[in-house]
Formats: sequence, C-alpha cells, structure tokens
Amino acid sequence: MKFNTKAVHGDHNPDNSIGAIMVPIYQTSTYRQPSLLTHGEYGYSRTSNPTRTALEKAVAALEYGQFGLAFGSGLAAIDAVIRLLSPGDEVIAGKELYGGTYRLFKNIWERYQIKFHFTDLNDLTVIRSLICLKTRMIWAETPTNPLLNIVDIKTIGIFSKKHKLIFVVDNTFSSPYLQNPLPLGADIVVHSATKYLGGHSDIVLGCVVLNDEDLAKKLYYIQNACGAICGPMDSFLALRGIKTLHVRMQRHCENASKIAAFLRAHNKVDKVYWPGFEDHPNHQIAEAQMKDFGGMVSFSLLNSNLQRTSEVIQKLRIFTLAESLGGVESLCGHPASMTHASLSEKERISIGIVPSLIRLSVGIEDAEDLIADLNNALK
Ligand SMILES: *Cc1c(COP(=O)(O)O)cnc(C)c1O
Repeated sequence: MKFNTKAVHGDHNPDNSIGAIMVPIYQTSTYRQPSLLTHGEYGYSRTSNPTRTALEKAVAALEYGQFGLAFGSGLAAIDAVIRLLSPGDEVIAGKELYGGTYRLFKNIWERYQIKFHFTDLNDLTVIRSLICLKTRMIWAETPTNPLLNIVDIKTIGIFSKKHKLIFVVDNTFSSPYLQNPLPLGADIVVHSATKYLGGHSDIVLGCVVLNDEDLAKKLYYIQNACGAICGPMDSFLALRGIKTLHVRMQRHCENASKIAAFLRAHNKVDKVYWPGFEDHPNHQIAEAQMKDFGGMVSFSLLNSNLQRTSEVIQKLRIFTLAESLGGVESLCGHPASMTHASLSEKERISIGIVPSLIRLSVGIEDAEDLIADLNNALK
C-alpha cells in the first residue's frame, strides 16, 4: 500500500463488531478474562488498549516499521528509549537538540550515570573521536530546531551499524510523510505526535517505531513496567490527525516555500533558514532523504534587538506567538526566550540563536494571507 492510503486506512479495525468506520475510543482500564486458565487479548490498559494498539500499528506502518509504541508525550517516548541503556553507557547526540530532550538527557539521565556527548553529527571524524567501548547509541534530530540543519541519516546509519550502535532519529520535524529514517538506516524512530502527526494542537503524545524484535520486546517491557502511556481519547485524536497527514504536509511545505522566498527577498530580514534553498549548506542531503522541505522556516531581522523583535511579533495577526509546531494554524516562536531559554546567551549565540531569530511553524492557511501578515508586521 502507498503512503497516502496507509495514512487513511492504517488503523483499519476488522474486529469491530458493528462496523464503525472509526476505531472506537475504548475508555476502559480493564477487560473481562475468559477463565482462570485462558487470558484474553487485552488484560489491563497500561499493558495495552485497542485504541492505542490501532494508533501504534498506524504509526508503525507509516514509518515502515514492524513495531510501534505510543506514550503520554514525545518526551515520555524518548525517556523510554533511553531506558534501554544502563549506567556507564554513553550516547553521542546532535548538538542542536530539542530543548526538552537536552534537559532530559543532561538533568535527569546524567544523574543515573549515562553520559551524553553533544556534537555536530555531520562530522564523522569528531564522532569517531568520541566513540569508546561504552558508546551505545547515536541520537539525531533532522531537520534541527530552530536552524533547520540536516543530518545525513544514511551516512550515520552505515557508521552506527559498523560500530554496533543503536541509531535513533527524532523524526518530529519531518513527520513520516517527508522522511522515513528506518529504511535509511536508523534503528529506532521517535516522534512527538503532539506536532505534525496529531496536527491539530489538541494532544500531547509520543511514538516509537522500530524493526528490531529484540529491542521492541525490551521497549514493550519498559512501556508496561514504567507506565508512561497515552490514554484512549488521545490515541483516537492522534489517529484522526494521521488520516490527513499527507494532505496537510503538502500544504505546509507549499506555504513554507512561498514564505521562505518572501522573507529572503525582504529588506528588513537578515538570514532565512530553510533547507529548500539551493545554497542551504545541507540542501543536497535534504533533497536526497526528504520528500519535500517541511513546514518550518526560521529567520532573523536585520540590525534588530530583542525590543524590535518583540514589536514585530506583537504585530502579527495570523501567526500566533506560542510554543509547539506542526498544527494546521500558523505559529511563531522566539527560540532565545522560549525553546532555548535554558541555554546561556553565549551558548545560544555560538549556535546562531540570536535575539532577533523568529521561528515559524507555517500552517495550512492561505499563503497570501500569511505573507501579508508578515509583510505588515515587518513594516
Ligand atoms: C516537541 C518535541 C519533543 C517533545 O515532545 P512532547 O510531546 O512535547 O513531549 C521532542 N522532540 C522534538 C523535535 C519536538 O519538537
């Protein structure tokens, strides 16, 4: 089955006795068991729930994976994957991670003696220099937040196979429609389904997809033992969102490309970050591993300070100042004070997060209206 068909039908539920087209919300914690000696398919909803199972299968199908797991948030999914490791193990991670992931790694997991190295994942020489006998995992995000750099998944996939490392890709910014890390060589894909998969800014949810049976068994064990699952209602909303993922993504990408071109030509704009530009440093990798360039665009203002940047953001009418991304409505964020506030100003500036940097999550509204909104604010 092709992607668009899987997106619509991936949750097909032939067991449903009344023929409902949508997977029911099985709002139940427990299940009647046939007898003392025989157990039913479902026993307790922490372990599994039919609505969640439908979601797990749907996301797995979209990522070309055999096994899917859903969690109460993207960070809960990421946390479950780190629980595959043991004290003393080391992880090599991208240096431009989602702030919450960085916080989880540094402030929580380092207390349990798991060590994280943050580095440029496109530099194999540096990665090689960081590898030791304790290295177990490589953790990548691509495109990165908020500067939309691209990590070459295929190259790291080959490298991590050679060194017997578990290669994890956080595919949140691309969504499975634009990019599928498993066929490109990753071992595990994680998603904050809060973003594009859900697509409507109405849930917080996370997913993990993989093909390795041994790792999958361990993750199902962790999911049940630690219990950071999502409920049936949120599973249902994620499933509903997924049905339109391909259509939404096409419009997100189309609008983002128009906005990137508009911003680049604007005389009050300094830099525009968007992997679709031919002179973007990783444009060729993006073209090779992604179907399109995504719905995120970041830009900085020419000769501008925090005050001026704030004035521009205040004038926006359609773009709403808010955390998060990937919903149908356009949002704008200010990385220096929002997603990357936990870094020092020096750390931020060293990676390009200047006070005038604005990150757009371009929605599926009319592109002309979005451009007019930006144009008006920039005046
Ligand atoms: C939002 C996000 C997360 C965290 O997901 P939550 O659902 O907010 O817990 C992880 N990674 C990336 C890239 C994100 O954008």
